[in-house]
Amino acid sequence: MSKSTRWESKDNESKHLPIYQHKTKLVQAVRDNTFLVVTGETGSGKTTQLPQYLYQAGFCKDGKIGITQPRRVAAITVAQRVAQEMQCTLGRDVGYQVRFDDCTSQDTAVKYMTDGCLLREILADPGLSQYSVVILDEVHERSLNTDILLGLLKKIFTNPAKATKGRSFPLKVVVMSATLETDKLSAFLGDCLVFAIPGRTFPVTCTFGSAVGPKDIESTGYVKEVVKMALDVHTSEMAGDILVFLTGQSEIERACDLLYEKAESIDYRYDVQDQTVEGLLILPLYGSMPTDQQRQIFQPPPPKIRKCVVATNIAATSLTINGIKYIIDSGFVKQLNHNSRVGMDILEVVPISKSEAQQRAGRAGRTSAGKCFRIYTKEFWEKSMPEYTVPEIQRTSLTAVILTLKCLGVHDVIRFPYLDCPEERFILEALKQLYQFDAIDRRGRVTRLGELMVEFPLHPGLTRAVLKAASLGCQDLLLPVAAMLSVENILIRPGHPEKQKEADKKHRGLANKSGSMNDFATLLSVFQSCKSSDRPSVWCKENWIHWRALKSAFSVETQLREILLRLQQKRDFPVETFDGNKSELLRRCLCTGYFTNVARRSVGKVFCTMDGHGSMVHIHPSSSLFDQEAELNWVIFHDVLVTSRVYIRTVCPIRYEWVKDLLPKLHEVDVYELSSVAREEVTDEEMIKWENREAAKRQPEVSTEDV
Ligand code: ADP
Ligand code: MG
Repeated sequence: MSKSTRWESKDNESKHLPIYQHKTKLVQAVRDNTFLVVTGETGSGKTTQLPQYLYQAGFCKDGKIGITQPRRVAAITVAQRVAQEMQCTLGRDVGYQVRFDDCTSQDTAVKYMTDGCLLREILADPGLSQYSVVILDEVHERSLNTDILLGLLKKIFTNPAKATKGRSFPLKVVVMSATLETDKLSAFLGDCLVFAIPGRTFPVTCTFGSAVGPKDIESTGYVKEVVKMALDVHTSEMAGDILVFLTGQSEIERACDLLYEKAESIDYRYDVQDQTVEGLLILPLYGSMPTDQQRQIFQPPPPKIRKCVVATNIAATSLTINGIKYIIDSGFVKQLNHNSRVGMDILEVVPISKSEAQQRAGRAGRTSAGKCFRIYTKEFWEKSMPEYTVPEIQRTSLTAVILTLKCLGVHDVIRFPYLDCPEERFILEALKQLYQFDAIDRRGRVTRLGELMVEFPLHPGLTRAVLKAASLGCQDLLLPVAAMLSVENILIRPGHPEKQKEADKKHRGLANKSGSMNDFATLLSVFQSCKSSDRPSVWCKENWIHWRALKSAFSVETQLREILLRLQQKRDFPVETFDGNKSELLRRCLCTGYFTNVARRSVGKVFCTMDGHGSMVHIHPSSSLFDQEAELNWVIFHDVLVTSRVYIRTVCPIRYEWVKDLLPKLHEVDVYELSSVAREEVTDEEMIKWENREAAKRQPEVSTEDV
């Protein structure tokens, strides 16, 4: 590891950031405290500068400085920026690690990473012995993994006996947040010091629109509206860049297309108010965008050109774009929510909270007074937008983190120090799922299988299927599928109806080639065909496949294979034999992990899920099984899309016998038994109520006719 501390920033820009004046005091505060909360306006320099200050001050002598980010793109982008400021090659002194992409080396002293990566590291090394400083960044975002890290670091490092275990020097923990809830954070961490970086902000005038009212929560008209508003601003407002907040990649791409189209017809001699403006530069910004394209976002536009960035929420706090004077706020965000209607986590478009709307508006007032145009009405603000964003821990599935906690020896997952407690039923739901996957036993203790499962950065169900395949010696069938399901969408579905037909036809051809109409097998077939092709990128183009996504899938598959190999080399890796039909092997393995996502055809094209929720679902048009419903009885599926209907995507037909022995597991378990701790606190009366409710949810017995 590099021990050089002589390095000085040549970048004068950074000396103008608000944090710069507090450099000495900040470094001292980190030195003097185990826990420190640092707060400051977005853009004040917390993320990019503080790690550099600590590096210069010699904090890397004993260990690394680790900085967590809830978002993958932020970890990568910020590491690139800091490497550039420190004039070093990315991956050497400054590096990053995100799931399936490790750009660090032996020399890395400043490491940006996702919160999920640090959680995995704690699993392998609870004392975090490689680190001298851990910085949890963007804590106000309240991502699930950051919240769990907060609780874990509090638990480990406020206890002097535990804090020094496996360490020769004390760890410093810095918690960074935009200016929200810092008192609460400080109180949570034993009333630790709060270091506030005073910000400079300018007033932002906000106006409400008329396009989206309380009745339009499910409307999709907001893309057109923001485009209209952006063009209005471009033609009628003085020079200054525009930042548009939208929901996700496809909406952003659509908005950019529309903007290009409309901006073409602007006559800059007559149509534009500010005659110094002579063009519009349109730039998308979303999580899975290629990183070289992202760099453009931060560059100042050419002279006389107005920049218009169309972004997801990532531009609200994670990344700061200079020069923004106008905000256009769609009022919506894409959020992972537990959907009680289908009993799964689903990405949904929902109204943002009022505090989020204020944060968005604030992006316009960084360098001078700004304006924020909201496309929604005042009434929408009052009636449809919550005050604060609900922390992720209170709205998504806890299955994976509960397993992680259990593997870390936190048996009492109910009384774990959560900054905000999740509802107990969510914890019990997670325990139930872990029990169903054989990751914990009836008494809530981690099984051998659970210890293997926690090693995979995948959904527990998918991991379960991979492990089943490995125990049968057919991991080559499942690893590619798991990889394909871990990257962005592989199959291109163009918006144009004719082209969509053409793409669907190609994809169906690929499904046919796999020998069975089964979306998982299609993924496997795409993976294998492309891998063995001489010109893979051409092959992808011809078959409407995302080459970039597929390349990531190749890399993910290799990494999953490495994890598996490492586990298989250990003693007592399970070995089983399979005496069924070989052509059923893939589907049989999938059943082991997806029996919780099983549905049975009820009438016509409608299927009914068997997990106790009994939701009515339809096969999504992108599935190779779409329009084949009449020939199916039982299916398993990977995920669900909720629009006006509930759609299941990535579907596979199965036989009832394959899941028959597993299905009782969905209902038999007494959730309170799994959490022996909870049981002690539950009165008999509550217990009976719970059991009655569970019984009411249960499906009627399946008759043999269905088989
Ligand atoms: P904070 O974490 O307090 O929100 P940052 O450290 O992220 O602040 O940003 C400080 C400044 O550095 C901002 O003005 C931002 O515009 C600039 N900056 C950050 N990343 C980049 C980048 N990749 N390219 C150019 N400027 C950047
Ligand atoms: Mg930051």
